[in-house]
Amino acid sequence: MTRVLTIEDSAANMKLVVVLLESQGYEVLQATDAEEGIRLAREQHPDLILMDVQLPGMDGLTATRLLKGDIATRDIRIVALTAFAMRGDHERISAAGCDGYIAKPIRYKEFLKVVAAELEMGKPMPRG
Ligand code: MN
Repeated sequence: MTRVLTIEDSAANMKLVVVLLESQGYEVLQATDAEEGIRLAREQHPDLILMDVQLPGMDGLTATRLLKGDIATRDIRIVALTAFAMRGDHERISAAGCDGYIAKPIRYKEFLKVVAAELEMGKPMPRG
């Protein structure tokens, strides 16, 4: 089963993301802060991480840098979720190591399209 870890401190956003992901048959792992998210990523090695950029304590981009710098988790694709749509943000997000980007507020179709595309890209290469 495809497993997606969502790291999100807003209960409303978490609920929405979980409903959308479960509607596609994905198993959802949930963390409400970066530390818990990193722990779950190491323990569970999900297929994809949805990372809220603005988190209490450690922010999502710092958490992304840590995950991408760790041999145990660096191959997990990470998509940033951010309310910021300011110039320079996309660069900041990719510089931190995020593989993709979703702007809030979440638009259902776009959200699911990006998630499906990232999961497809994260599949291991066929051998031979
Ligand atoms: Mn947040």
